Amino acid sequence: MKKFAVLLAAVVLAVFAVSAFAATDVLVGACIYKFDDTFMTGVRNAMRAEMEKQGGELEIVDSQNRQPTQNDQVDAYISKGANALIVNPVDRTAAQPLMEKAKAEGLPIVFVNREPYAEVMNAYGKIWYVGAKAEESGTQSGQIIADYFKTHPEADKNKDKKIQYIMLRGEQGHQDATLRTEYSTKAMKDAGFEIVELGSDTANWDKVQATDKMKGFISAVGIDNIEAVLANNDDMALGAIEALKAEGYNMGDKSKYIPVVGVDATAPALEAMSKGEMLGTVLNDADNQGFAAVRVAVVAAEGKSVTEKSIGYKITDGKYIWIPYRPVTVENYKNYMK
Ligand code: BGC
Ligand code: CA
Repeated sequence: MKKFAVLLAAVVLAVFAVSAFAATDVLVGACIYKFDDTFMTGVRNAMRAEMEKQGGELEIVDSQNRQPTQNDQVDAYISKGANALIVNPVDRTAAQPLMEKAKAEGLPIVFVNREPYAEVMNAYGKIWYVGAKAEESGTQSGQIIADYFKTHPEADKNKDKKIQYIMLRGEQGHQDATLRTEYSTKAMKDAGFEIVELGSDTANWDKVQATDKMKGFISAVGIDNIEAVLANNDDMALGAIEALKAEGYNMGDKSKYIPVVGVDATAPALEAMSKGEMLGTVLNDADNQGFAAVRVAVVAAEGKSVTEKSIGYKITDGKYIWIPYRPVTVENYKNYMK
């Protein structure tokens, strides 16, 4: 009997100890624009890992690239009593109604990866944005190409001292597509190069679409005339590389190589770099974007104030958490392989 009492006391103590440190009991409802996106899958995994640490509950749903579906999903989270929302909007220009739904309930809302307009961000107190400054990634990817041309004179195939390039753009209207395109070309010019755009088209962040577009460019302008490929993300860079490989390019023969850069530093892109098929990329830090989004949501859901100290990330203007990009080249890509 005595033994039993001791055991019982121990169990009670243990339960108490656990609950005293216990993790939060918040429910966070998250919507991802579509699950079938390589980069957002990384963010999603990081969100789950962080919530596991925090001990709260995280539900994540696939908005299947349809804004009306996502709006319904947010309504559903609200009716089931979620304590905070994380939204990766399908259409960043349609974030206002989502903000209004959250505002009507006084619920914290954290947008990720697709930045709502400033007027939406400024219309509510419990709103945050976790993302990265697209300009940075554009600049860094353009610099990787410029550095390559400086150290590899043979890259200027027609010896006209200009870089003849193809641009593969992300989804129309996405801040990352617009700014990466603009800043990558600016970086090549700032590095002292004249540039000539042989072709530019959107492939909607998608590898298969990029292969098709690249094949079209190759037949339109001739592979011998293409000196570089800049893609707004790694999936499209890898799609372009498929098209190059179909022509016998980027497979080890040094006379048949076109430098290709992307953005994200996804596992398949790092793999392609290790095989010498892809020149470089830029780390779009999915882990820290996912961790930060969950921390903001949890802290805000608990009614605590969201500060650099409470979330462990720097906050700009009280509502923006900018996660830095990093250039990834042949020198450092191994550091990013998991
Ligand atoms: C990433 C893309 C991704 C897009 C989704 C961008 O930041 O670089 O790979 O498809 O976000 O919104
Ligand atoms: Ca040239």
